[in-house]
Amino acid sequence: MSPTRRARKAGPGPRRAAGSRYRDLREQALAANLEIPRQGLAIYTFGNASAFDPALGAMAIKPSGVAYADLSARDMVVVDLEGKVVEGTLNPSSDTRTHLVLYRAFAGRGVAGIVHTHSTHATGWAQAGLPLPIYGTTHADFLAEDVPCTAVMDAAAVAGDYEAETGRQILEAFGGRDPLHVPMVLVAGHGPFTWGKDAAAAVYHAAVLEQLAHMAFVTRTLAPGAPRLPPHLISRHYERKHGRHATYGQAGPGERR
Ligand SMILES: [Zn+2]
Repeated sequence: MSPTRRARKAGPGPRRAAGSRYRDLREQALAANLEIPRQGLAIYTFGNASAFDPALGAMAIKPSGVAYADLSARDMVVVDLEGKVVEGTLNPSSDTRTHLVLYRAFAGRGVAGIVHTHSTHATGWAQAGLPLPIYGTTHADFLAEDVPCTAVMDAAAVAGDYEAETGRQILEAFGGRDPLHVPMVLVAGHGPFTWGKDAAAAVYHAAVLEQLAHMAFVTRTLAPGAPRLPPHLISRHYERKHGRHATYGQAGPGERR
């Protein structure tokens, strides 16, 4: 996306209906989008968040090129899984087709929110083309392996459907991983995508990833040959938050952290 890109009217087409069944979805998408600058993950129009409802088969996403300060729930654009705008008057985010590729692959596995940012440290690792190493227990509290990084996209892929191709690059790098066990990825030369069981979880993971990337950068700067956390510490930390016998926090299963 570009900070200079302007939102354009989408022309004749679907409009927002009062009392729409997508209202809750648009509210979820707005809340996640507003959290992106609040967490210092983006400036100007950088980044975007979407919320998906499997029952409705649709997602609500940030409109293209609108600054966060100007966003309202009615600006969110509702798009079906084929990319057709079903509600909204603005053009959806230019990254919409990346979100759709990911929902088509991950929605059946519990993913209902996706966030993309260019947050500084996560993007630094992505630009270096490096997976984010699991150096410490903070990382292991959230995922039990390195954050994967895609390959750099070749010229033919960029010349084609670039945004959908970005999604396909992510799926290729992701392999057979469970998307709720590894809720984040780095797109080489570009930046991070994160997701979760809803849009709020996706933006939470975007903030966590930025923190992990910052910590890993400091670690590697201080000690370029620093080892990864040993497996027994990884599993101890990951399992106490996510395992069958998780002990962290006060809430019920799935609500810990
Ligand atoms: Zn981007």
